[in-house]
Amino acid sequence: MTHRVYNFSAGPAVLPEEVLKKAASEMLDYEGCGMSVMELSHRSSIYQKIIDDAEAGIRKLMEIPSNYKVLFLQGGASLQFLMVPANLAKTKKADFVNSGQWSGKAIKEAKKYGVDVKVVADSNPGNNTYFPKYKAEDVRSDADYLHITSNNTIYGTKNMVLPKVNIPIVSDMSSNIMSEKINVSDYGVIYAGAQKNIGPAGVVIVIIREDLIGLVSGLPTMLDYKTHSEKGSMFNTPPTYGVYIAKLVFDHMIANGGIEYYEALNRKKAAIVYEAIDNSKLFKAHVQNKEDRSLMNIPFFSQSEEINAKFLKEAAAEGLVTLKGHRSIGGMRASIYNAMPIEGCQKLADFIKNFDKANS
Ligand code: PMP
Repeated sequence: MTHRVYNFSAGPAVLPEEVLKKAASEMLDYEGCGMSVMELSHRSSIYQKIIDDAEAGIRKLMEIPSNYKVLFLQGGASLQFLMVPANLAKTKKADFVNSGQWSGKAIKEAKKYGVDVKVVADSNPGNNTYFPKYKAEDVRSDADYLHITSNNTIYGTKNMVLPKVNIPIVSDMSSNIMSEKINVSDYGVIYAGAQKNIGPAGVVIVIIREDLIGLVSGLPTMLDYKTHSEKGSMFNTPPTYGVYIAKLVFDHMIANGGIEYYEALNRKKAAIVYEAIDNSKLFKAHVQNKEDRSLMNIPFFSQSEEINAKFLKEAAAEGLVTLKGHRSIGGMRASIYNAMPIEGCQKLADFIKNFDKANS
């Protein structure tokens, strides 16, 4: 019998079991063509339909307006740390909210590209236990864009409330895209690595307002959003299988009721896990401000390294795996993306309660 666990990995992460089963059933013969999707030419009409359907799926889920392009790219969210400044920083001036390591990396890359960076708020001095507060008036009105990391995968903070600014807002939504409803037209660019809420690693989704494409001329071909937008993400070979799995995930999400369904479920799931941590004697959540708590990543820890290690070992024996915290903050981290069933969160919460009783 197939052995499945509850996988709390921060990414690559859990995928819906129904999607994995469908992909398995189509592995050798995709819709009667006698080939695996992996073997299909990206120039074939069968594959064109897959990528078109993937785009239609995400457009429907996120209600993406028609003046936005959806691109399926490669290079990880990390390449967007460069592509965003290369394409958008036409005057080489950009403002950033620094809410942890990933936004720190985006800032570093923009600076390397010669961008004059202003950090408008920074939670690093507070060990990123909260989302940094910033005011619209701190954002330079002549900056090319404001960059925000909506959800901090490592520290478990998030913020979806945007300042009213007159420059485009760019959001790295790698770890919480499609986890709650947003208004796409509030953003200039949204980007996300697929390996958390969308599909396998190797695909990056960029949602970009059309007027932000082609602002800078003379860019290297592969770094230019214009190249990918003009060619429907097919300038070169796209990550074909990853896009196919993303399409299956989008179909599955639509069938379940779309983002509204997932948002309600995610709120319940996070509440179940947080309740167990907050009511325990041994464990403390990294993020105490309730309004700053991520629905996707929940870091928590005990003061004792010995207890942390014991927790991880005993949890794994119960089929609750990949709960080790990021090496920079230690302890534990439960990543509970859209595809984590509520039963997994309940099982983790029960485990926390029982472990706490037995060890405190
Ligand atoms: N941004 C965020 C918020 C992330 O969590 C990650 C990866 N964990 C990245 C960027 C980097 O993504 P990638 O590994 O796809 O380059």
